[in-house]
Amino acid sequence: MTDVKYVFVTGGVTSSLGKGIISASLAKLLQARGYSVTIQKLDPYINVDPGTLNPYEHGECYVTLDGAETDLDLGHYERFLNVPTSQANNVTTGRIYQSVINKERKGDYLGKTVQVIPHITDEIKRRIKLVGSGDKFDIVITEIGGTVGDIESLPYIESVRQLKWELGTQNCIVIHLTLVPYLSSTGESKTKPTQHSVKELLETGIQPDLLVLRTERHLNTDIKRKVALFCNVEENAVIESVDVSTIYEVPIKMLEQGLDKTVLRKMGLPVEIEPPLTEWREFLSKLKNPKHNIKVGLVGKYVELPDAYKSIAESFIHSGAMNECQVDVVYIHSEEITENNVVERLKGLNGILVAPGFGSRGIDGKILTAKYARENNIPFFGICLGMQCAVIEFARDVLNLEGAHSTEINHKTKYPVIDLMEEQKSIIDKGGTMRLGGYKCVINKNSKTFDAYQKTEIVERHRHRYEFNNKYYDDFKNHGMIPVGINPESGLVEIIEIPEHKWFVGVQFHPEYSSTVINPHPLFVSFVKACIG
Ligand code: GLN
Repeated sequence: MTDVKYVFVTGGVTSSLGKGIISASLAKLLQARGYSVTIQKLDPYINVDPGTLNPYEHGECYVTLDGAETDLDLGHYERFLNVPTSQANNVTTGRIYQSVINKERKGDYLGKTVQVIPHITDEIKRRIKLVGSGDKFDIVITEIGGTVGDIESLPYIESVRQLKWELGTQNCIVIHLTLVPYLSSTGESKTKPTQHSVKELLETGIQPDLLVLRTERHLNTDIKRKVALFCNVEENAVIESVDVSTIYEVPIKMLEQGLDKTVLRKMGLPVEIEPPLTEWREFLSKLKNPKHNIKVGLVGKYVELPDAYKSIAESFIHSGAMNECQVDVVYIHSEEITENNVVERLKGLNGILVAPGFGSRGIDGKILTAKYARENNIPFFGICLGMQCAVIEFARDVLNLEGAHSTEINHKTKYPVIDLMEEQKSIIDKGGTMRLGGYKCVINKNSKTFDAYQKTEIVERHRHRYEFNNKYYDDFKNHGMIPVGINPESGLVEIIEIPEHKWFVGVQFHPEYSSTVINPHPLFVSFVKACIG
């Protein structure tokens, strides 16, 4: 075992306290101090990965470059750190059990009774250490999904306890995130839920090293001291995480309170230079002082839950800041758009993005939206299903292919302009079987896409089963919808454009997964610029 340091982030009192953002912020600060850091998420559900989950369950499914379908927190990790994550960065209970059961079937346990302790916990520890192996990282931050006290997360918590014992307290520290609610009737911030939550953690054998208290209002020194005393942690190891206007401010707030310093000190690592975070601060200053303001319609079918489009929303924040522009994303339900109200619903927008998705619900609204944007010369960005809808609309209204469709929606269509990829035809299983992860694309120099990327070869992440049907390639090209990006190995169309239009780009891949604070995605930057006009 090398001397990789492990930091665990647990949560108590309620879910949704922002463990992912705290983990990403700490990682950012440690990275800025010169450490190589990665973040892993352990999810307590039994799905092998979130790929089969409806976005209403836990929000968007994030896709890594190596083709893993993962929890959306990995998106935050990449956006903060600007370093790609991989399959190993997201582990679910389902995946743990799957490998233990596979080993059992192979006879690897030699007649033993297979149990949660030690077999499941051993597998969890193996997965945690796997991320730290190979000398790539100095520090591994592992975020444990769920809330302490849940039955589901117990094996993870027990694994952390064992690791602390095995690796020693200097190599393994625990940050516990809780909520300090404010009672307006008495005008007080209450620490009791935190005390109980720490007690719950203590019952599992873990004394947290640091506490991060999520709160609506600033906590005074007395409250922090009280928490420190009752929860048995140092005073400077009690950090408040007060609500801020943007998640990207959290690293600065953590830096101000020395979260990174306390962590390093506890791990016996040097605490030297204060990281200046220059680029980060510049980004924040642009974000907070916009010179322009635009309204972009995001047309999708999961709009009731904005987390379903997390990476798209964040990409607009990055690209907006780069353009010194505040991008107001207006979420529009594709199911509610009809021929009669499309003008009413979409008027006044500076640009329109049609979102990715699966299945037929809301598809007509997306097709109508693409038509509206095309005919009214409104900047249009179609992502995955969004691009497919633009292709369908163009086939019907410009190529006069009546009833043209994607075979995903109508497998009997006379004009299958979007069709199942050849290699997908024999696949029956749903989990992990799409075209996933990074694929190459060669860009035509004479295109808006090239202007955006300033290069002809790119790699972008995919998550789909259907594709542009090359049988119609010439027909589209001759009528003004040009395939400008092609996969060099398979010939699959990856990008279409309408050069006549102000900005009309459809991409089969997901640019939103690779936009980061430091490197906003070029297509989003270019789209926002076009919307500013
Ligand atoms: N449902 C479409 C396909 O599978 C688009 C997928 C997506 O938008 N991610 O090809």
